[in-house]
Formats: sequence, structure tokens, C-alpha cells
Amino acid sequence: MVENPFFAPSDLPYELPPFADIREEHYLPAFERGMAVQLAEVEAIANSTEPPTFDNTIAGLERSGRILDRTATVFFSIASSNSSDGIMEIEKEVSPQLTRHSDAIRLDRALWARIKQVATDDPEESWLLEKYRDDFIRAGADLSEPEQARLRELNEELSRLSTEFAQSLLKASTESALVVRDAKEFDGFDAAKIESLRQDDGTYALPLLNFTSQPGLAQLTDRDVRRRLYELSVGRAPGNFVLAARMAALRAERAALLGFPDHASYSVADQTAKTVDAVEEMLGQLVGPAVRNAGKEAEALTQQAGFAIEPWDWSYYSEKVRQARYDFDGDAMRPYFELNRVFRDGVFFAATKLYGITFTERPDLGGYHPDVSVSEVFDEDGSRLGLFVLDPYARATKRGGAWMNNLVDQSFLFALRPVVMNNLNITKPASGPTLLTYDEVNTAFHEFGHALHGLFSQVRYPRVSGTSVPRDFVEYPSQVNEMWGTWPEVLANYAKHHETGEPMPAELVEKLQAAEKFNQGFKTVEYLAATLLDWAWHRLKPGETVDDPEAFEAAALETAGIAVPLVRPRYRTNYFAHVFAGGYSAGYYSYIWSEVLDAESVEWFKENGGLTRANGDHFRRELLSRGGSLDPLTAFRNFRGREPSIQPLLNRRGLI
Ligand SMILES: [Zn+2]
Repeated sequence: MVENPFFAPSDLPYELPPFADIREEHYLPAFERGMAVQLAEVEAIANSTEPPTFDNTIAGLERSGRILDRTATVFFSIASSNSSDGIMEIEKEVSPQLTRHSDAIRLDRALWARIKQVATDDPEESWLLEKYRDDFIRAGADLSEPEQARLRELNEELSRLSTEFAQSLLKASTESALVVRDAKEFDGFDAAKIESLRQDDGTYALPLLNFTSQPGLAQLTDRDVRRRLYELSVGRAPGNFVLAARMAALRAERAALLGFPDHASYSVADQTAKTVDAVEEMLGQLVGPAVRNAGKEAEALTQQAGFAIEPWDWSYYSEKVRQARYDFDGDAMRPYFELNRVFRDGVFFAATKLYGITFTERPDLGGYHPDVSVSEVFDEDGSRLGLFVLDPYARATKRGGAWMNNLVDQSFLFALRPVVMNNLNITKPASGPTLLTYDEVNTAFHEFGHALHGLFSQVRYPRVSGTSVPRDFVEYPSQVNEMWGTWPEVLANYAKHHETGEPMPAELVEKLQAAEKFNQGFKTVEYLAATLLDWAWHRLKPGETVDDPEAFEAAALETAGIAVPLVRPRYRTNYFAHVFAGGYSAGYYSYIWSEVLDAESVEWFKENGGLTRANGDHFRRELLSRGGSLDPLTAFRNFRGREPSIQPLLNRRGLI
């Protein structure tokens, strides 16, 4: 019998998980043993007869649960990127168990009593101790027995509903695909794209991506095909409306148990925003100008079309206006954005210029799929920094969007270097090179910004490693990294024609930058509408129930002043995975909140000479390497030298 690969640390370099040895039947026994072992470890800490110290209590908890951590890290990475019916079954079974497990630890009264007695003078330790206390209080450690019992029930049901929401969404991306018999209906797509959509039965199926405005809407010439695609997009997974309403009600009840007026107030209390007023004040400054900008854009589109456009016409005519006004054709850029070159000569090149780090492919190290690649990252002095794993392609078993996750957290406690991973959703061509859109290039730089945050982590404890920072801060470093995608020196290095090697013509770059300013109204409104929808669901008071979720959604947008008939939210309730299947409930505001710091930092880089080693080192030392080991806004001030102001963001988005 082969031993379960999760029971011992991986013996691969950097403890990269041994994907080749992992089989589906390993997960459940590993979860089971992982939870049992951690509970025993925690019991030993809680019932210790020694006086409580930082080391025997907080550091003890940090040391606990290694098997569970290894198992969960790999399992949830696979469940997101390479799922299967078997994985989905395990996820359904294990999610409520994990919720029970974490409640068992955080609602352990003996353990909580010890944590309250720990004292320390060390700054990094005090910060971590505060985090633990806050985590325990927010998890209900101070509640009475009956209250805790109800809390456990709520958590379990929420975890079950969230898994159900995610799984029906994954199925909807292919089950709700737009299927046509005649390839002519896909007029506007190039031949290779159409070929890649062909099914075994001779039909053509265009799967849905997980947001409202499907990329195909910009190209498909047949108006009725666009309408069908759009309606499939906004109407997918209709059963999720009811799940969402149920989750919002349960979250409100839980917030009340924990002493908050609503879930949003609970959710922001441990974020950098801290209060709902702070979030609302900021969003309030953006809504009016964004709606006005979108209105002006709508006028231009109507003029271009010569008739009153519908929501499914927006992308198509905005491409037309862009071409007419800026003589810009997005497709003309793609031959200059070949995937491997974008990474090697763009994303990696910028990181070398800024931080001195270098990358070596490790074909001897593998992932869970043949398309996954592994690179080793070295510091300027040649010392080993970590591994970077890349899974670029879309597949039916991968959830939508792009994201970064850790496969191994950096910590001095375990003497571990980081293994970080980026997932993208680029359509794999049937043959030939993979040519990206400008948006996909931007996403590659964005996700690599998260990867750097993980790779540069230099902290003692896993709880605060790398990207373990508040949600409304975590997007900040990744958004900053986007700036290098169009930085002239970087762009000149990677944007070369995949056949001829010719650099992208300068005029194309200028047009791109001019055209980027167009459609900002649309982008800001669709984002704010999703943000305010998330917000409305989570400002529901305990006991308030929603019987008609679609009517609630419409009313919420109306009340927030963001109901623009031509611009629906980037995510409607039924496919708002961030909020109902991920960790972003009452947190979708985070992207624009982080963008304040991002815009400030981009300004700083520009003021100080841009792409230089000195600038990179300063950003790395003060911010990227600190993970969550100090107050995030202190880290920002240490980097920027002042308090953040919203002005640079308003300028950037044309909202003044
Ligand atoms: Zn991100």
C-alpha cells in the first residue's frame, strides 16, 4: 500500500506538492487525519499546566495543523483549477467539516482563556497576538454556550450554501454556453476561434466567462446572437438567486449574534476601512461622476449605431467608436502579445529590472496538468527565493477569472520558502502560438503583482505570510504591478510580432493609451454597480428577508443611484462568486479602495524615476516583504512617506 502523500512533508524542492503522486482517494483520509492531529495539538495547548506564554500558546497554534494545511492547500487549488465530479463530491463533504473544525478551535473556552493571558513586548509578536485575539472574538469566543451553538449551525449552513453556489456556477459556464449549429452565426470571430469552439456533434459552443459582459459581445456582428449571448450570461444559474438571499439572511443573523448591526459592519471592522461610513463616503464620491461619464459614452455609441442601443450592443459599438475615434483595433495588437514572450520578456523582465530577481524554468518539476509550468526564482546575489507556478489556460474544470494562490507559505518558523501560483483563463488555441488580448496582458501583470507579494515575504509566522493582509489592501500591490505592462522600456522588450519579431509600432501603443481612456465610464459603473449590490445584500438587518431577489437587486441599484439600464453590474447576484462563493462578502469595494493606494504609489514611482532597482528595493523592503506582519497603512506610509489621498485615483478614472 502506498502511503498517503499528505502525511509527510513533500521531499521535492521547496516542498512543492508531489502532484504526480496525489490521487483523489488521498484527500478524505488526509483531511480526516489532519483535523484529528490538529485538534489533539490544540487540546494539548489548551490543557497545558505551564503558564501561558507567546511561544507555548500563539506560536504553538502556528505550529499546529501541518497535515491539514498541506491537504487543504492542494485540495482547494485543484478544486479551483482542475476540478472533477469526484473533487466536487469531496468538497461538498469536507467544507462543513472544515467549518466545524475551525469553530472547535476558536470556540474552545480553555484555549481562549489562555490566549487572553499571553503577554509580549516584541512588536511582531504583539501584532500577531492582537490578530489572534481579534480572530477569536470575531469567531464568537466571548459568546454564551447557546449563542455559540447557534453560531456553529449558521457557519455550517453558510459553508454548505457557498459550495453549492460555486458548483452550480461552474456547471453553468458550459451548460449555459451559447450553442449554434451554423458557424456563420459566429461571424466576427476569426476562423481559429470558431474552430476551437467546435463540438464533437458538429455544433459550436461558446462557454460563458464569469462576468456579465462576455468578450464575444465586442466582435459578434449578428445582433440577435449578441442578444442571446447576453441573456444567457445575465440569466445563468438562476437557482443561485435563492441561495444568495438565504446566505444574506444568515450572515445578518450571525452579525447580530456577534454584536454588529449588519454583516457589512462586521465584515469591514477588521479591514483597513474599519467602518461602513468610511466605505460609503468613498463610494458616494464616485457614483455621480461615473454615471455621468457612462451617459456621455452611451450618447457616442447611439450616434455610432444610428439607433437606440441595448445592453448587448454596448461592447460592439464601443469597439466601433474606438476604431473610428482612435483608429484603434484591439485585434491588431494580439500578434505582438505571445504568451511566453509576455511572461519572459515582459512580466519577468520588469521584475528583474526592479528587484534584480531572475527566473529559471524547472521542467523537472511538474504541476497537476501538462499545461502547468514551474520556474525557480533567484535573488540578485544568486540565493534561492522560491518557486513560481503558472497555469495559464482556461478549461471546463477551472473556475472563471484569474487569481494567485500559495502552494507553500513562506515562514521563518518552518524555514520554508514560498511556492506561489498564478491562474489565468486564456483560451488555448487549437494550434499555433497563444496570442493574448491587451486585457489578458494586463491581468498577467496584475496576478504577478500578487505573486511578488508572496515571493518577497520575509516574516516569522505563517498567519501573516505574504498576501495574508486585509482584503481591502491585498489588491494594492497587484494593481501597482499593472503599471509596468505599458511602461515604454518594458513594452518595447516584450511586444514583438510573434512571426517577424518586429516591435509593436509606436503609433499602436499611443493609440492604445488614448483608447484606454475611452469606456472608463462603463468600466467604473459596472464595477460600482456590483460593489453597491454586494453592499446592499450585506446591509440587510437581522430578520429582514428577501422573497424576490431579482426585485431586490433592481431596487438596490436604483437606491444607490447606479441603475444604468445599458450598464448592468459586472456581476449580478446569481453569479457573484466573489461574494457568495468566495471571501469577498461586503468586500467587493476592496478593489477601488486598494486603487487609492495603487494610484498614489504609481505616482510615487513616476516621481522617482520609474523602473529602477532603487525604487524596486524601497517598495520591496517597506511593503512587499512585510506581508501582514504590521499595520498595513503603516507599511504604506513607510513606503510613500505620507497619508493616502484619493486625488490620484479621481484623476486616473476621469472622475473630477
Ligand atoms: Zn487581484
